[in-house]
Amino acid sequence: MKTVKDYIRTIVDFPHEGILFRDVTTLFADPRGFRMAVDQMLHPYAGQRIDVVVGLEARGFILGGAIAHQLGTGFVPIRKKGKLPGTTISQHYKLEYGEAIVEVHDDAIQAGQRVLIVDDLLATGGTAEAGISLVERLGGVIVGCAFIVDLPDLGGRQRLEAMGMEVHALCA
Ligand code: IMP
Repeated sequence: MKTVKDYIRTIVDFPHEGILFRDVTTLFADPRGFRMAVDQMLHPYAGQRIDVVVGLEARGFILGGAIAHQLGTGFVPIRKKGKLPGTTISQHYKLEYGEAIVEVHDDAIQAGQRVLIVDDLLATGGTAEAGISLVERLGGVIVGCAFIVDLPDLGGRQRLEAMGMEVHALCA
């Protein structure tokens, strides 16, 4: 039987020479693969109260929407700077080359709400850390961070676990 990893394709030299890009669009495009990924991402949280699913732009929206539907919760997007129309709070973070800013609407999460953070891939953990920071600044309580792929050599899991986060990924 195929596993989630079997549906993910690797593109050589994208977006830069020397990078092996994990392309999850092939997983999303397959009905069995997509359902398997969503079901497996939810599995560790069975029986736990989750109030809101937060997705990180952009592939975290695809997964997060499906997971929120399955859990019967709302969905909140964390977006790159300048995309959200309402009043936002922002967080800077470092990329491999340069910096970026992500934002969330300042009324999207209520203090005390229990939040599941979702993205496709964990590399250095910088993106997820910025998302965690935004959620916590609004008073959200993070139940866990769920990814399809964890690239363990890049240290993201240790970084998030050092912040006290529970991290789940389906494959490396
Ligand atoms: P990090 O901030 O270094 O952990 O990088 C993770 C972010 O970059 C996530 O939002 C991913 O979607 C994206 N990303 C980095 N490398 C890849 C990849 O190989 N495939 C898909 N997304 C990636």
